[in-house]
Amino acid sequence: MKLPGQLFVDGAYRDSAGGGRSSLINPATEEVFTTLAAANAADVQAAVESAQRAWEGGWRDLAPGKRTEILFKIARLLRDYAEHIAEFEVLQIGKPISDARDEAGLGARVFEYYAGAVSQFGGQTLPVARGGFDFTLRQSMGVVAAIVPWNFPFPIACWKVAPALAAGNCVVLKPASLSPLTALALGEIAHAAGLPPGVLQVLPGSGSVVGDALVTHPLIRKVSFTGSTEVGRHIMGLAARDIKRVSLELGGKSPNIVFADADWQKAAETSPMSVFANTGQDCCARSRVYVERSVFQPFVERFVAATRKLVVGDPTHAETQLGPLVSAGQRDTVEAFLADARRTGATVATGGGRPHAKGYYLEPTVLLNVGPGDRCWREEIFGPVVAITPFDDEAAMLRDVNASPFGLSGSIWTQSLSRALRVARAVQSGVLSVNSHSSVHVEAPFGGFKSSGLGRDLGMSAMEGYTELKNVYVAE
Ligand code: NAD
Repeated sequence: MKLPGQLFVDGAYRDSAGGGRSSLINPATEEVFTTLAAANAADVQAAVESAQRAWEGGWRDLAPGKRTEILFKIARLLRDYAEHIAEFEVLQIGKPISDARDEAGLGARVFEYYAGAVSQFGGQTLPVARGGFDFTLRQSMGVVAAIVPWNFPFPIACWKVAPALAAGNCVVLKPASLSPLTALALGEIAHAAGLPPGVLQVLPGSGSVVGDALVTHPLIRKVSFTGSTEVGRHIMGLAARDIKRVSLELGGKSPNIVFADADWQKAAETSPMSVFANTGQDCCARSRVYVERSVFQPFVERFVAATRKLVVGDPTHAETQLGPLVSAGQRDTVEAFLADARRTGATVATGGGRPHAKGYYLEPTVLLNVGPGDRCWREEIFGPVVAITPFDDEAAMLRDVNASPFGLSGSIWTQSLSRALRVARAVQSGVLSVNSHSSVHVEAPFGGFKSSGLGRDLGMSAMEGYTELKNVYVAE
């Protein structure tokens, strides 16, 4: 598979109407490795109109069995091309190759799940009071805009595109400017698998140009967005004008709560990767660790020792666990957080420096003595930085956990079943794990409370989000 360099519209690659191009920088080498067409408002117009034609002209009414067949074939081709997809991801965002391979496989699994979901998803019959016959229909919406971020570009694109297509919609996919390659590969592969032209369009380009033009386009019926809370808020405001459906998967500041009765040794050894994986650029990163005071000191020692063992380096090497940050700007942002933490009295237990002369690398960093009002404790850093604090009282700890405007994910470590259930009920997050750090399951709903989002990706919940619900009453 060749490195994509154009937009994917109407089943074929083409240049942008305005002729604009942008460069992609490999974050591990800091060098430009390719240039790519950048879409403008005219391209959005053409892509949305073509998608609408594809929806009205057949995709909407295609027999469910045929849709299933195409989605399964896409999954099979994604597996065949997994190594290409993984290599593109390494090049554009510096993701370690072993993670990139896993994520290529995850994308294929998402298509398999929704290929099967087509025949499992439908309406109900309802025993209404006046008699007669009442039933609900789950109908496709039309053209959906999927706007995705750069941190998990391929799997997040798949977990929006697959259920939207399975529900009978057409999709215009807008990848982040830093990570267009795997989204374009998805468009190309889906069409090679038999998806009709126009059903999936891929428009790389800037958020303010392509994103805004999509969100305000009258033929777009739903915007499915994953990204920052700030841009999510902006999109929700624009969508309000036409009462467009939106689903928003936004930022997080997830807690990792360790009670003294837990297998705290296991928690300490596994927790570094719950925040540092993907170099901390993870909406589910457990970046606030609360440890019951009686085990705080030994927990921190083990956590720091495990952090020091992490392999930070060349993302093309199979043993690498942490690659570079995605861009110079992202590293500047994270370093500004660290400078702020030092100024306000935090202690750096390990990390804080740049481990390599070239590439946007940053050491995984553990902060102690961070106060409850400090920026590092309250705001999403989106880099390899964690803060660990002791707690004495469960209720006071939970008040601090829930004082966050975010509510995406989190972990609870305890051997007590009743405590696990009580705390899981109390934490205001959309996704929680007990004695584990696993947040994402293809079969289960994924999304946030409060400023972490609206609506759910994955599972059957995502199918609901890509349909309109119609009730039909038939008199007897
Ligand atoms: P971002 O908000 O900057 O960009 C996300 C997408 O929105 C990109 O495609 C971007 O081009 C587009 N965009 C930017 N401005 C826009 C505008 N004005 N109108 C329409 N679209 C616009 O986010 P990012 O930096 O790519 O990703 C990091 C953020 O994403 C973090 O906050 C992270 O927590 C969040 N995230 C959330 C989840 C989740 O599932 N909750 C998953 C991954 C990432």
